[in-house]
Amino acid sequence: MDENLAADLAELPALLDAVRESATDLLTGIETRPVARAPKEVGPAALPEHGIGLGRALALFRERWEPQFSGSAGPRYFGFVTGGATPASVAGDWLTGVLDQNAMSGEDSAAIELEHQTVGWIGGLFGLEQHTGAFVSGATMSNFVGLAIAREWLGEQLGISVAQAGIGALGPVHVLSGTPHSSIVKSLSMLGIGRDSMRLVPTMPGREAVDVDRLAEALAALDGRPAIVVANAGTVNTVDFDDLRAIAALRQRYPFWLHVDGAFGAFAALAPEYAELVDGLGEADSVCVDLHKWFNVPYDAAVQYTRHRDLQLRVFLNSAAYLTPPTGTPDFGHLVPENSRRLRALAAWFSLTAYGRDGHRDIVQRNISGANSLAERLVATGLLRLVAPVRLNVVCFTLTDQPTTERVHALVDAIAESGETFVTPTVYEGVPAIRAAFSNWRTTDTDVDRAAEAIAAAALALG
Ligand SMILES: *Cc1c(COP(=O)(O)O)cnc(C)c1O
Repeated sequence: MDENLAADLAELPALLDAVRESATDLLTGIETRPVARAPKEVGPAALPEHGIGLGRALALFRERWEPQFSGSAGPRYFGFVTGGATPASVAGDWLTGVLDQNAMSGEDSAAIELEHQTVGWIGGLFGLEQHTGAFVSGATMSNFVGLAIAREWLGEQLGISVAQAGIGALGPVHVLSGTPHSSIVKSLSMLGIGRDSMRLVPTMPGREAVDVDRLAEALAALDGRPAIVVANAGTVNTVDFDDLRAIAALRQRYPFWLHVDGAFGAFAALAPEYAELVDGLGEADSVCVDLHKWFNVPYDAAVQYTRHRDLQLRVFLNSAAYLTPPTGTPDFGHLVPENSRRLRALAAWFSLTAYGRDGHRDIVQRNISGANSLAERLVATGLLRLVAPVRLNVVCFTLTDQPTTERVHALVDAIAESGETFVTPTVYEGVPAIRAAFSNWRTTDTDVDRAAEAIAAAALALG
């Protein structure tokens, strides 16, 4: 055995203690660490020929790399939609690496049973009891898998299997959506359906939610040709929701596959006063739910759900002489793009077991109230205004005076430099704007105050 490997094995308990101490430093220091960093170049390093062992590798990482990493796991990082990681989910994630299960098939381990249980629990949070699901690496892959099954369904309507015959056998594909996430369009590219197949349906005035009457017209114009409709439950800019019930009801008149991208918006289901926003989610043929955002497990994790596992199996079937052909419940290797895969479910299992539906509801409700109070504070300065109402957990705002791209970007940069909070720029209805997205379990009222003060101070300095 290599001498570094042998030494690490001999010292394993002490080394793991050192790793634990580093983690404790990081997690207890996250409140005081600058929220964001403009990364400095760390500089080149030669490929290690001999290695230095874990202890010194840890010291080197802490000195050279860690100070350049962002505090995105902390309570005042409001960029993109970046969840934190609950204590139990961090523990689950550590143990995932420790146990190093291959959650592809279930011949030698109960690991995939744990995944099934967790997929079922999470489905229960969202009313997806009729769906089956699997863990994937993020909402992009969840959307990709949902649309891959949709593609197979389109083929079935025409009496062909796209999995066998290829996308060329399908002819033009019609995908309709109001305000699709970029990952939907990316998935169309990856699936050979093509980005140009996306037909944007008009939204309601001043909204990002699709106009259902216009959607019905677009479907009617297809003259009975089957289509894919992507409904959105929580758009990134203004967290707007399509009317899922009304869209699902259109299937009585027109043949289409209903995919719902509920990456983070689906979590409205956890808060009784917001749950009606996702009423009808269970009607979807496929559903995307992200977990590394509002469920607060570490990257990377999401679940994809469908009511059509038979079609999913056709798409992702992985047959080889040494693999058991699927009977009953197929192995995950036959249901998702990956074959070998980590047991992503374990972090989510830990978090649900430790905190339950109540604990996760608390995260959602506190984040929603944090977003509302930040919005009030920002508007009260007179320097900033909302470009859309706060519908859930995102505040979308801009400068009251001359919201040019230049000034808005200067404001975003100045906020980041404060080290107090981090927000990201966007454009909404042609207006350069800023998003502050709440999705971290640690965020308290004090954090909201600190963020509001830092943003207000930067806006004031901008003049
Ligand atoms: C974040 C997001 C995605 C993509 O998620 P990843 O986890 O980054 O792949 C898709 N749809 C919506 C609505 C999102 O917010």
